Amino acid sequence: MGTAIRTCPLCEATCGLRLTVDGDRVTHVEGDAADVLSRGFLCPKGALIGELHADPDRLRRPRVRRDGRLVEAGWDEAFEVVADRLAPIVAEHGPNSVGVYLGNPNVHNLAGQLYVRPLLKALRTRNIFSASSVDQLPKHFSAGAMFGDPLAIPVPDIDRTDLLVVLGGNPRVSNGSLWTVPDLPGRLRELRDRGGRMVVVDPRRTRTAAKADLHLPIRPGTDALLLAAVATTLFVDGLADPGDHLRDHLEGIEAVRNWLAPFTPEAVADRCGIDAATIRRLAHDLATTERACLYGRLGTTTVRHGSVASWLVDVVNVLAGNLDRPGGMMFPQPAHHRFPRRPFTAGRWHSRVRDLPEVIGELPVATLADEIATPGEGQIRALIVLAGNPVISTPDGDRLDAALAGLDLLVSVDPYVTATSRHADVILPPPSVLERSHYDLAFTGFAVRDVANYSPTTIGPPTDHPDEARILLALAAIALGQRPPLDLDGADAFVARLLADQIVADPTARVAERDTDAVLRAVGERTGPERLLDLLLRAGPYGDGFGSHPDGLSLATLEASPHGVDLGPLRPRVPDNLATASGRIELASELIRPGIDALTAELDQPPADGLVLIGRRHLRTNNSWSHNVAGLRGGSLCTLQVHPDDAGRLGLADGGAVTVRSRVGAVTATVEVTDDLRPGVVSLPHGFGHDLDGVELEVARRSPGVNSNRLTDPADLDVLSGTAVLNGIPVEVVPADSDAEATRTAASAVGAGS
Ligand code: SF4
Repeated sequence: MGTAIRTCPLCEATCGLRLTVDGDRVTHVEGDAADVLSRGFLCPKGALIGELHADPDRLRRPRVRRDGRLVEAGWDEAFEVVADRLAPIVAEHGPNSVGVYLGNPNVHNLAGQLYVRPLLKALRTRNIFSASSVDQLPKHFSAGAMFGDPLAIPVPDIDRTDLLVVLGGNPRVSNGSLWTVPDLPGRLRELRDRGGRMVVVDPRRTRTAAKADLHLPIRPGTDALLLAAVATTLFVDGLADPGDHLRDHLEGIEAVRNWLAPFTPEAVADRCGIDAATIRRLAHDLATTERACLYGRLGTTTVRHGSVASWLVDVVNVLAGNLDRPGGMMFPQPAHHRFPRRPFTAGRWHSRVRDLPEVIGELPVATLADEIATPGEGQIRALIVLAGNPVISTPDGDRLDAALAGLDLLVSVDPYVTATSRHADVILPPPSVLERSHYDLAFTGFAVRDVANYSPTTIGPPTDHPDEARILLALAAIALGQRPPLDLDGADAFVARLLADQIVADPTARVAERDTDAVLRAVGERTGPERLLDLLLRAGPYGDGFGSHPDGLSLATLEASPHGVDLGPLRPRVPDNLATASGRIELASELIRPGIDALTAELDQPPADGLVLIGRRHLRTNNSWSHNVAGLRGGSLCTLQVHPDDAGRLGLADGGAVTVRSRVGAVTATVEVTDDLRPGVVSLPHGFGHDLDGVELEVARRSPGVNSNRLTDPADLDVLSGTAVLNGIPVEVVPADSDAEATRTAASAVGAGS
C-alpha cells in the first residue's frame, strides 16, 4: 500500500490527485490539497480514476481482425499486419490515401502531444481531421487572425476579476474549457466574497447560470449578433478604449467600427431574444467595471458564425479595455519552450470532395465520410484513428459508420472496442491513464496561473506493453517503410535529435546557439517523452537553460515537486506573444472579413421558427469518455430536455419516448420536461449511443443513450473554419408512438398505391 500524487488527465482542469495504491489497484482517491493549481478540488470523474484503470473491458493486448472477428494478438503481430496492409495502399494511391483522425484525448496525454507530430510527418498526408472541428477550431481561427498565433487564446483572470461574463459555457461543470480553472465553484465563491459578479448568456439555465447574478437565455446560434451589438454600443457610447497598454500594439479599430455599425442593439434584439436595453447595459458593465472578463465557449464556437463570435469575444475584450491586464483576459505563459509561429493563415489546401479549407493543418471532420466514400484520386482508403470515436463524436454518425466499414484498412489506437474501433483491422491499446507519466503541455497554455506539474507513472505498465510513445513511433517507423522488428530506440533518438536541433536553432530558446550534442548529453539517460519534456522545459521561458539560468526549471525540479511548481499569477504578454505580420494585434484581419459579410447578410432575417437542438455537458461525463465506469452512470444522463410550454404544445409527457428528427437523421429519446431551457429549445447531450453491434463496453451498453450526432447536419458548418454546427440544429419532436403510427400509415399508404 502506498500513496501517489499525480495530475488527473481526464479533463482540462488538471486537478492534483492523491491516490492510495495497493499493487495495481487504487483503493482511495482524494484531491491533493497541496496542488499548486487545484488546491484539493476533485470531481466525480477524478474520484473514480481507479475504476477506469481496473475496467475489465479495457484492452490489455492488441486486437487484429481475422475471419471477420477482432481477436487478441501479440504486439509484433499487430504491427506486422499494419505494415503489410499500409505499405501497398500508400505505394499504389499515394500518401493522401491515408487519413488520420485525432480524438480529444491526444491533448490530455504527454506522448500524444510529443509523438503525434512525428507520425503525421512520416505519413505525409494532408487528410488530417480531429475533434477540433466539432469543438474549438473557431477560437483557433480567430486567435490566429487577430494575434497571429492560433494558440494565443486569452483566459479570464478569475482570481482577480470583478465581473465574469460567460457565453455558451458551463465551467461549473467542465471546470473550464480552453480555460484551465480547477475548483471553479470555489473560485466563483471567492469572486462573490470580494463583491464581484457573474453574468451567464446561455439558452439553458446550466449549473453555472443557476449561480449567476444575471442569466440571459439567448436564442442558440445568435451570440455573434449579440457581441456585434455590444461592440457597436461601445463605439457609439464612447466607451471603446483598449487602454494605454495596448494603444501602440493595435490596429484596425476604425475598420471594425465600420464593419459592425449595422449591428445596433435594436437590430439584433429579436434575433437574440435579448432586449436592446439589456444589451447596452452588458456593454456598459464590461467597459466600466474596473476589472472584467468576457469568456465564450462551445455555444459560441459550434454554430454557423462560430469564428466571428470567437473573434468578437476578443474584440469586445479589447474595446472594453479588458485584454492583457490583471483581472481581465490574459495570456498564460507555459513553462515549456514554444517555437515562434509564422503569421497564421488558412486554406493552404482544400478537401477533395467539398473544397473545404484547411485550418491549422486539418480539414473539417464533417467531410471525413465524403473523403472515404467518394471514389477518385485522393480517396481515403486507410484511416488511422488516434484516441477517437468519430462515429459518436462527429456529424451524421450513421454515414461515417457506414463509410468506415468500406475502408481497406482501419487502425485504431484505443483502449476500448468502441462504435468506431469495432470497424478496425488492428486495435493498438495504449497503457491506462495511471500507467503513464503526465505533463500538461496543452493546458498550461490556458491555466489561470502559470504552473508546471509533472507526474511519473502511478502503476507500472506490464513489461511487454509498449507505452503510447512507442506505439506512435512504431506507426511512424512503418509509415517510413520499416517492418518489424522495429528499431524504436533509434526512432526515439532521432525524434529527440530533431527537437534538440530545432531548439538550439531558435533564438527565442534559452539554449539558442548551443551545441545539439552537448544539450542531448546534458539531458542524460532519459529517453522517450521525458527526454523531450526535459529539453522543452530547460529551453523554456522559466527553464534552467542547461546552466545559463541555474535557478530555472528542469524535469528534475518537477520530479522533486510532486504538487507542482507555482510560477505566479498571469502577467501581461502583449506584444511579445504576437505573431502577426505587423507585429501588432490585427483587429480587422482580412481573414475575418468574409465571416462579417455572411453575418451582415443574415442581419435582417426574422428569428427562425420551430424547435432547435442544443447539447449539454454533465459533471459525470466528458464527451464519450468514462461511460463505461459504473460509478459514473447512476440515473439517466441522456434525456431530451424540453421546456414545459413546448411539451404541452406537442403533447409530450415527462419520461415518455419521442422521436427527434433533423434533416439528416432521427433518434428516439426519453423526455425530461424542465423549465431550465428557453421555450423553442430542446437539449440532448452528446457522446452517447454505445449499443451498436460489436461495441464491447458492458457498462455503457446497459444504458447506452442515443447518439446526438445522428442529427447533426454535415452540410451546416461555421462559415470560416468548417466546424460543425452542433448547437441550434432545426429539429422536429413528436411522441414516439405517434411517429411509429405515422410511419405505419405512410408505409401502408405506399403499399396500397404500389
Ligand atoms: S475536474 Fe477534471 S481534472 Fe479535476 S478531477 Fe475532475 S476530471 Fe479530473
